[in-house]
Order: sequence, then structure tokens, then C-alpha cells
Amino acid sequence: MTQHAPECNIPVHLTPEDVGRFTDVPAAAYVVEPEQPCELQWLHGGPHAAIVQSSETPGRNWWAVWESGSGYRIALLPNCSVVLDGVLGAGDEPVICSAYACHGGDHMWML
Ligand SMILES: [Zn+2]
Ligand SMILES: [Zn+2]
Repeated sequence: MTQHAPECNIPVHLTPEDVGRFTDVPAAAYVVEPEQPCELQWLHGGPHAAIVQSSETPGRNWWAVWESGSGYRIALLPNCSVVLDGVLGAGDEPVICSAYACHGGDHMWML
């Protein structure tokens, strides 16, 4: 079961240099695609954002963040720590929002 609001999906295009740089990090969790859709909720406030890569810093991931019509930046952002009320996920673990702290739009639950 997923509770999924429609996503924004406005894309950002990463430079080949950034794709290479974040593909080559130690213990990479993700394949870095040159085109990344915004993962936040449709009509969210604030900048668009797409996760680029995991990091070795606990509780932080690399995110591309951009405003419509301007360039992006990639930042090591702390995870959002909001927990979904009253629902447990896989292994009866609490479900934590999968976006970064202080993101726009609703929280994102991976169930
Ligand atoms: Zn967006
Ligand atoms: Zn959140």
C-alpha cells in the first residue's frame, strides 16, 4: 500500500561532471541519472529537489535543489525526521519521511 500524492516531477539536468562526481562516491546507494525529477509533492512551496546520492554522513544525503528556470546546486542536506503517525512499515519500523529537512510540500512516505 502506498499513500502517494502526485509528485511535482519537474526535471533538473545534471552536468556530466556532477553525474561522474556523485557516481564515484564510496558506498553509493543510487545510480545517478543525468535527468532527475523533482520528488516533492505537486504544487509544493520552496525550491524543487531531487535526491542525487547517499552520503557516508549519517542522516544526510546529497540533494539537487533548484528554482524553476534557474540553475541547481547540490547540497548535503539532513533528512526530514518526521514520522508517520500510527503506521509501521517493513519490520514494524516507524516510517520516516524520505525527503530532506524543511522541504516544501507534504511529507513523503515510502510504504
Ligand atoms: Zn518540484
Ligand atoms: Zn518530511
